[in-house]
Formats: sequence, C-alpha cells, structure tokens
Amino acid sequence: MKCVMCGASTRPPRLERVPYRAAPHVTLDGVAVLACSNSDCGETYTEYPDLTGIESRVAEALAARGGRLDGQSVRFLRRWLGWSGQDMALHLSVQPETVSRWETDAVLMAVPTENLLRMCVMNKRHLGSEFELERTLALPNQATPEADVRIDMALPRPPANVSRRLSQRACHLALVA
Ligand SMILES: [Zn+2]
Repeated sequence: MKCVMCGASTRPPRLERVPYRAAPHVTLDGVAVLACSNSDCGETYTEYPDLTGIESRVAEALAARGGRLDGQSVRFLRRWLGWSGQDMALHLSVQPETVSRWETDAVLMAVPTENLLRMCVMNKRHLGSEFELERTLALPNQATPEADVRIDMALPRPPANVSRRLSQRACHLALVA
C-alpha cells in the first residue's frame, strides 16, 4: 500500500504482537504491521485480522486468568455482559458505589463475588434475559423455598453413542437422589 502521510510505498507486512486497546492485559499475536519505506516518515499501519468474536474470546480469557481481577478487567467484563453499573450492583448484590470502587481499584472484589462474576462471563449465553437470580433471592417475606423441585424423567433419552461411563454416572445420581 501507499503511505497516506508521504506517498511512499510500505514495506511488506510483518506479523507482530500488539496490545488490544479495548481491554487491559491483552495482546493480539499475528497482527500485520506495515512500515513506510521512507525512513524520514516512519509511519506504521496496522492491519487487524477479522475481529469477529474477539470480545468474547478476550472476556473468557480474562475470566479464566489467574490472580485477582483489577478494576479495568472488572469494567471490561461488566460492559461485555451488557450490564450498567446498576445492573452489576443488582446482580452481584452490592451497592452501586461498590461497583465504582471495584472499577477504580479502590477496593478488591470479595472472592465469592469475583467467582460469581467469572462464572457469569463463562456462562453468558445461558444468562440472556433469564438472569433472575436476584429476583429469585429477593422474593419478599419468603424465607423458605417456594415449592418442591420436580424433574421430568420422561425427557428425551440421551443419544445411543453416549459413553457407558456417562450412563452409569446418571444411574448413580438417580440412586443417590
Ligand atoms: Zn510515509
């Protein structure tokens, strides 16, 4: 390609590791970087590969990363979940001010809360609009559960190729229940 700044041609692309600026602590490997051949210019151009799905990969990698979540990571994960600060406060049973303290690194999340956030990220596709945990917990004046849980055993049988160990485990679970 031609350099937009000086019109000289660019050198062949080199694959480099570049920071992913939308999220903290994330680098993208194998990004094509083209440098202008005019040494007085020095402009470089980055050609990002197809970034479809990149946010999901980043979010799941951040949620699986060892060590505690810092404020930037909490903010990225919250936004990726589609939660406002109010939403996060509601889902994680804290005050809205607490969310901003997490995101500004004023306080660390409590470990159980952090685990819940990580599990929400890992299970986002199951959350959807059905994330009603806080509604379920917050049923007014109800200290005991609503009704006994009933499981329909007439649901479709598992496919024939399911391993014997799996079906044995299912029997064991049934006996325990
Ligand atoms: Zn140039």
